[in-house]
Amino acid sequence: MRSTPSHHRDVELHETDILAWLREEDSARLEKLWALADDTRRAHVGDEVHLRGLVEISNHCIRDCGYCGLRADNRGIARYRMTSEEILGCAADAVRYGYGTVVMQAGEDYGIDTDWLAGIIRRIKADTPLAVTLSLGERPIEDLKAWREAGADRYLLRFETSDRALYQTIHPDARGQVSDRFAILAQLRRLGYEVGSGVMVGLPGQSYESLAHDICTFRALDLDMIGVGPYIGHPETPLGQGNWSPPRADGEQVPNTELMTYKVVALTRLVCPEANIPSTTALATLNRAEGRELGLARGANVIMPNITPPRYRRLYEIYPAKACIDETSPASHTGIAAWLEAIGRKPGCGRGGRAHGGSRT
Ligand code: SAH
Repeated sequence: MRSTPSHHRDVELHETDILAWLREEDSARLEKLWALADDTRRAHVGDEVHLRGLVEISNHCIRDCGYCGLRADNRGIARYRMTSEEILGCAADAVRYGYGTVVMQAGEDYGIDTDWLAGIIRRIKADTPLAVTLSLGERPIEDLKAWREAGADRYLLRFETSDRALYQTIHPDARGQVSDRFAILAQLRRLGYEVGSGVMVGLPGQSYESLAHDICTFRALDLDMIGVGPYIGHPETPLGQGNWSPPRADGEQVPNTELMTYKVVALTRLVCPEANIPSTTALATLNRAEGRELGLARGANVIMPNITPPRYRRLYEIYPAKACIDETSPASHTGIAAWLEAIGRKPGCGRGGRAHGGSRT
């Protein structure tokens, strides 16, 4: 339990307030938003930054999402699936670097066999203190159940946009099944997972109103984890090629900028004070020097360093020129604690689950 310092008061934001902040351009007023988000972050989740080692275990995908470079239609990339030994090696690396969680992410790949992955999860849970997070797309409930029983702690599934018409055009159904990520999020919750979701900022066809509604939806879902990053065009996708038209052309287009992403991160912290919110790789891709740090200063409390073996990492191209924590970034795997100290934060201890402070004032 963490008590809220007496000077901190949570702000109550309505959808119209959120919309006004998204449209705010005045830098002095935006400084106020950053300060509000930073105060709220400190009061509810403290100065610890939880580190999640991200392992991109497969880039095979049966889906044809209009935004993602891993889409099945993209025949231009070599496909890979890591072996269990390789995945367990990455989990050992995560322990060695002092990370509290390993995140296994992939395209929607049914070559990831349910029992095979359950075995890997069991091994990680038996051999390491790590929390296990999965991000494997829209798998059937039987799979989600088997992995939960094997010990998986958390699942990430972004709803991408709450505008249903936009969602359906950028994220076509597969196997004749209507894609309902909200229904899957509810299943994950019932199975006892900590549940994460999120959206892309500046998707073609995304209006300010729909983005404000996305943020209100985070609150309505009472999410444990919320990831938001800028949409980044991929040249081998319909959206990236611009040969795609949004379902409606009313509403002003949200820009996919760094500044807009900070606004969404900050507002997300204000509506979900206890959530774990990463400063995302997509944000760092727009500003390699300072993106991660500014995300952390404006509401975020999680970093997800990529620990995928480099030969696979370059093939996991959901968008081009993905930033990574490596020799070229301000923080390295071994230097991350020092980097956090330098920006006035500290690495999280333990697994870094959701805070339940009950400290709202
Ligand atoms: N197959 C899994 C994991 C997808 S990658 C799934 O569908 O959940 C994780 C996230 O990357 C996606 O949810 C999406 O929000 C984001 N992403 C995909 N393509 C992107 C792009 N072109 N620009 C920015 N983010 C993107």
